[in-house]
Parts: sequence; C-alpha cells; structure tokens
Amino acid sequence: PKPPPVSHYNLNNVTVTANPLENRENILILTPMARFYQGYWDNLLRLSYPHELITLGFILPKTTEGNTATTALQKQIARTQKSGQEKDRFKSIIILRQDFDPPIQSQDESERHKMKNQKIRRAGMAKARNSLLFSTLGPATSWVLWVDADVVETPPTLIQDLARHNQPVITPNCYQRYWNPETKEMDERAYDFNNWQDSPTAQDLAKQMDPDDILLEGYGEMATYRTLMAYLYKEDGLLHEEIPLDGVGGATLLVKADVHRDGAMFPPFSFYHLIETEGFAKMAKRLGWQPIGLPNYKVYHYNE
Ligand code: GDP
Ligand code: MN
Repeated sequence: PKPPPVSHYNLNNVTVTANPLENRENILILTPMARFYQGYWDNLLRLSYPHELITLGFILPKTTEGNTATTALQKQIARTQKSGQEKDRFKSIIILRQDFDPPIQSQDESERHKMKNQKIRRAGMAKARNSLLFSTLGPATSWVLWVDADVVETPPTLIQDLARHNQPVITPNCYQRYWNPETKEMDERAYDFNNWQDSPTAQDLAKQMDPDDILLEGYGEMATYRTLMAYLYKEDGLLHEEIPLDGVGGATLLVKADVHRDGAMFPPFSFYHLIETEGFAKMAKRLGWQPIGLPNYKVYHYNE
C-alpha cells in the first residue's frame, strides 16, 4: 500500500493583507459561548465577507446552560449549512466542549462581574480561548476574528473594514444599546472597558502587587486612571481613526494568525499583572506587535 500523503504548507504563501477578499484569505472566527443569542447568529449570517472563506469555531462549557446553548447553536448551524442558501454556508464549523468546569457557575451579569470573582473567572475564560485557538488554527488561516457570543450587531463589512488597517491586532469600540428611562428613547452606552491605554497610576499599583495579583479595569475599588477607549468615541470623529492600545477586550478582535503562531495567547495567570485578553495584548506587544483600537467604529453587546 502507498504511504499516506504528506501535506506541505508554505506559511509564506498564506497572505495576510489589507485586502483579504481580493486575495481570498481564510478567516477563522472564534467564539467562546456560554449562552446562545439569536442576534449573534443573525449578525454572523449578515457578514458580507465570502462565507466559503470563513471557518467558525466554538467552545462551550459542559454545564446545563452550556448544553442548552449547544443545542440552540446546532439547530442554527443545521439550518444554515443544510437547508439555507448556498451563499450563507460557511466553509466549516467546529464545536468544542470544554474539558474543565467553569470556575463560576452563574452567568448572571451581577455575579460574573463581582470583583472577587474576576481572577478565577478570567483565568477560566483564558483557558477556554486557548483551547479553542490551539485546536482550530490551521496552516491556511490568515486571520483570526474573535467575536463574543453576546455581540449582536456589527457592520456587515466588519472583516473587510478591520483588515484594511493591516494591523496585527485591532479592535473596534464595543457599545451597548439600552432603553433610556429619562429620555424614553433607545440610547447607547460604552460597554467594554478592557480596551485601554496604560497610566502611571496603574503601573504604580502593579509595582506594589504580589506577583500573582492582577489589575482589573472598571472597578471603583481599583482606580487605574487608564485611558479607556470606550470613552474616546467622537460622533464627528473619523470612522477609521486609529489609537494604540495596551490592553484589549475580546468582544470583537481581529488578529493576524501570525501573531498567534508567534505564541501570543491568553495568559490564564498573572502576566505583568494582566490576565486573559489584556494579558494577550501585553504578550503581543512583547512579541513586537502593537495592538490598535478604533474608537469611532462601533459594535454592540447584548443588553441582559
Ligand atoms: P463580559 O461581557 O465581559 O461580561 O464577558 P462574558 O461573560 O460575556 O464572556 C465573554 C465570552 O465568553 C462570551 O461569549 C461568553 O458567552 C463566553 N463565556 C463566558 N464564560 C464562559 C465559560 O465558562 N466557557 C466558555 N466556553 N465560554 C464562556
Ligand atoms: Mn459579554
């Protein structure tokens, strides 16, 4: 019998350019998912980047809630991939179930955002992201787009718009729509505070910390005076204005696959007193890749 064939991939030929569409570059969209939101799936379907160049990867916890989300996700996948229109179908889809229990059972916003729960929760999130990344990144992947399962609205041209900046790590501004009881109208507010520029105060705080302790953003008990991209949005600003970032969130994050291949991952431990996506930004920087934020380019988080 013939020996099994050997596959050769020359990573130099996997282009990562400002015009991925023209160059037919493969995108891997990765989503850690604790809950399924229809708005997330509908938004994915609306992405105008050719779906035949998109692979989807999911990781879900093995909890009751995770089981419910997996069932809902699989139902939508079947609809799109089997009975849906040809143009809606994605190249391939991978679903992983976590091999460890989430450290915090409750996914309710009040519980998961408690400061005392953060380190252990973010470490669990980091491990979920790493498992997903290392199990799905392929030799032909040009870009990795991280999209959280509760991001329910982005421009359909999201991939093209972010890629055209040709940056190693780039993130839009994550907002949230809500009902404003004062104006009695729909309104919006800043949501993701993990996109920031560092401050001397935060640096000083870090210096006084134990090696295993981490800095957290968005908690009054730990005022960092970092510059938060969430508050830099300007209505009359240029849509594609860029700013350098020292910390990033994972809600929507486009990463050149080479950055991950170089070894940038999501530290599930204190890395320069940073963890998960914020630690990832630091690791990318240490590898020579400067993360970039787009303060005037918005995506929207679900309102629980
Ligand atoms: P927040 O927006 O900062 O409150 O963070 P989320 O709780 O929304 O978590 C970010 C993303 O990770 C979302 O897509 C969640 O559905 C997902 N997620 C949260 N906890 C877990 C977990 O334990 N396991 C997995 N696989 N995904 C999770
Ligand atoms: Mn979220």
